[in-house]
Amino acid sequence: MSEVPVLSVRGLERTYVTGDRSLTVLRGVDLDVYPGEIVGLIGPSGSGKSSLLHAAGLLERPNAGDIAIEGRDCTRMSERARTRVRLGSIGFVYQFHHLLAEFTALDNVALPQMIAGAAQGPARERAGRLLSQLGLADRVEHQPAQMSGGEQQRVAIARALANAPRLLLADEPTGNLDPTTSSEVFASLYQLVRETGVAAVIATHNFELARHMDRVLALKDGHLEPQSVF
Ligand code: ADP
Ligand code: MG
Repeated sequence: MSEVPVLSVRGLERTYVTGDRSLTVLRGVDLDVYPGEIVGLIGPSGSGKSSLLHAAGLLERPNAGDIAIEGRDCTRMSERARTRVRLGSIGFVYQFHHLLAEFTALDNVALPQMIAGAAQGPARERAGRLLSQLGLADRVEHQPAQMSGGEQQRVAIARALANAPRLLLADEPTGNLDPTTSSEVFASLYQLVRETGVAAVIATHNFELARHMDRVLALKDGHLEPQSVF
């Protein structure tokens, strides 16, 4: 492909030191994700999926390796510049929704847009549109505690897409939901990702979900390997 990858990871290494123990979870991970691609990331608990997503999403700095977002090297950027890239180009969905409890669904989706510089009116309008696309038109004024787990996670998905990121990183986005709700939320996520053309990396334990991805990679012993799930 001649396109510039939305995400390019080279030689990523991550070691955690706790007291006198050191644990290396990523041992030279390479990954390119192209516009519109949905990449599944699988691997048992503790294999380093979150570590990889957090480094790729510029939430943490790895011990070694390079990360480029839309062709821009972010490794040597200041924290301030990395925050700007994260806000403008990357959306993140966690296993637990991490919504702001005292705000409505609409506000939770409008706020990141306003932090990125949007005016309140357009931000709220876009938030309403995203929530409707996720089947939450009649939940916009609800606070997180007034919604089901599946609904909360849909709001988190809308929030992640609020700033029209080029890259969506989802860390077991349905891992905390029952199987039926998990399938439904994943279907909404999948549809919205396809519609927006955002590139996505989705970590999951769930092979059923992984089968819908364009390709699936497995984390094994700190390396990524192509994985067949068909
Ligand atoms: P996964 O998401 O695949 O379950 P993680 O990336 O969360 O894997 O964790 C990989 C390994 O690194 C686990 O053994 C975990 O306990 C360890 N780990 C993760 N974060 C830290 C941290 N901040 N400090 C120490 N160890 C950590
Ligand atoms: Mg994890």
